[in-house]
Amino acid sequence: MRILVINAGSSSVKFSVFDMDTQTTRFKHEIEIGTIGFKATLAQIPVALVEAGETRIDAIGHRVAHGGEHFRDATLVDDDVIAAIEVLAPLAPLHNPPALYGIETGRIYWPNAPQIAVFDTAFHASIPACAHTYAVPQAWRKAGLRRYGFHGTSHKYVMERVAQELKASTRDLRIISCHLGNGASVCAIDRGVSVDTSMGVTALEGLVMGSRSGDVDPGIFGYLQRSLALSIDEIENALYHESGLTALSGLGNDMRRIETAAAEADPQAQLALNVFAYRARKYIGAYAAAMGGCDVLAFTGGIGENSASMRRRICDRLEFLGLYLDEDRNSSVKLDGFAAPQIQQPHSRIRVIVTQTREQWMIAKEVHRFLSVQADKRPDQLPPAIPVAVSAHHVHLTQASVEALFGAGCQLTKQRDLSQAGAWTAVETVNVIGPRGIIRSVRVLGPCRRSNQIEVSATETFTLGIEAPVRISGDTADTPTLTLEGPAGRLQTNGLIVAQRHIHMQPEDAKRFGLADRDLVDVAIDSPPRTTVFRDVAVRIDPQFKLEMHIDTDEANAAAISHGGDGDLMLTLCHARLTACKPVRNIFITTES
Ligand code: ADP
Repeated sequence: MRILVINAGSSSVKFSVFDMDTQTTRFKHEIEIGTIGFKATLAQIPVALVEAGETRIDAIGHRVAHGGEHFRDATLVDDDVIAAIEVLAPLAPLHNPPALYGIETGRIYWPNAPQIAVFDTAFHASIPACAHTYAVPQAWRKAGLRRYGFHGTSHKYVMERVAQELKASTRDLRIISCHLGNGASVCAIDRGVSVDTSMGVTALEGLVMGSRSGDVDPGIFGYLQRSLALSIDEIENALYHESGLTALSGLGNDMRRIETAAAEADPQAQLALNVFAYRARKYIGAYAAAMGGCDVLAFTGGIGENSASMRRRICDRLEFLGLYLDEDRNSSVKLDGFAAPQIQQPHSRIRVIVTQTREQWMIAKEVHRFLSVQADKRPDQLPPAIPVAVSAHHVHLTQASVEALFGAGCQLTKQRDLSQAGAWTAVETVNVIGPRGIIRSVRVLGPCRRSNQIEVSATETFTLGIEAPVRISGDTADTPTLTLEGPAGRLQTNGLIVAQRHIHMQPEDAKRFGLADRDLVDVAIDSPPRTTVFRDVAVRIDPQFKLEMHIDTDEANAAAISHGGDGDLMLTLCHARLTACKPVRNIFITTES
């Protein structure tokens, strides 16, 4: 699959073509917007691609800065999505409008290719309320005022690259990712999820940036309006375009130029560097506190990747966190071939990693993942969800046992049908008596079987004082003996088991799941807040069966599924999903159900 990624920014348009089959970049280009405007700039993309021989485009990924509350993942672009991105444009005035031009270009020149929006905010959807909530009036919060964060695609890439470099799982790492470019942000990534980030409802909050101020006292709006007679628009414009490194240094936003001037004793340039580094260090300290520690500090973005002296300034005085930079390694960083060198001293508790961000590649990966998941979700291919039923304790009896317990010639009386064909609950109940205790009024299920079987939960085996094996129904060989008591008498019988969890299914279902009879599978039951995965669930296939997973009361409690306790099978509102299968062909299963 070949994916065109369009990253339409405020001052330039970057576009690349990736071959996802070979995992390679086929083409990469950047055009400055200059004076010709967005439309004319974007119209150069198809021309450049044709000139480069890139005529096959299977899908297009667009970087969209602001996805608001709504867009938490990559999304197929349609008219509604375009309208929603337009609505969010005031929150990302420099970035969302260019992305819309990019989408328009994609639709005009590649009308048959799916267009997928990948949002900078999506990775931060996991930020908890305590971190994303501003302490402002409720009406403002209801209107969508909260911290959203940006650079999510970059921070996610850095997280994955760091984990790969350390041969660790993202689940085991607390990473502070610093994306320091013209736009700059820090992100606290706690065990694979973003838990805080320095940009807010807009991309203006947080670090000092090329021409953006980052954090300021919101009181300046009133103060500047009253004292300098500035309008809100004028103040906002200055905070976006005339602040940050540009304002502090008086030399523009190029960090290289500022560092050179600072080395030549320019006091404004020196102040710019100090303010920039101090703000970044403050956020790093805050995020280490937010996560209760930090394992990795990662640098990326034009400044983070290239400026050894800025990395040094930022890391100075972080020794209290256990971070010790190795100056030689720091000053000899080489990032060719997407390297991710470590630049800490050997005894440093925190690893410090530098890597080049690859937002375009990450967008292509997100698009590819989105399209693969979509393909898997085709309704005709989707295996059905499995209804979950809870089996409370019950007893199956032979006709001879029925007569011993309820009287000669007695036939079980049907109470109601169960969901599996031919199975029903009887009016009759028995007491189950063990050496330690009794379980009273245990429901008998019909019809009669060739051998007695008493199914209890593991907890109830302690009530009875007998250890019972976990068995698939029907497998009663070598099971413990106990006493059953009915109105007409008592009898001693073996057959006590704790039922092995299992799924009944028809051959057609089995085909859709890709399962064979006797396979053991892992099954997830979505029952928040105690969503549970059961392993070693036996698959039982028969044309008479109805798709249903059976668990006992202990298991239902573990998964927080409510159930009836009256000794028969209760269908619940829960559904299960198959998550893994290990074919097992050697469990003993009788034909009797
Ligand atoms: P954007 O946010 O526009 O993608 P970049 O990630 O390209 O920005 O970063 C641009 C910043 O990186 C500029 O401030 C630039 O001066 C700085 N930069 C690039 N190379 C170096 C370098 N060798 N030393 C210091 N700063 C650098």
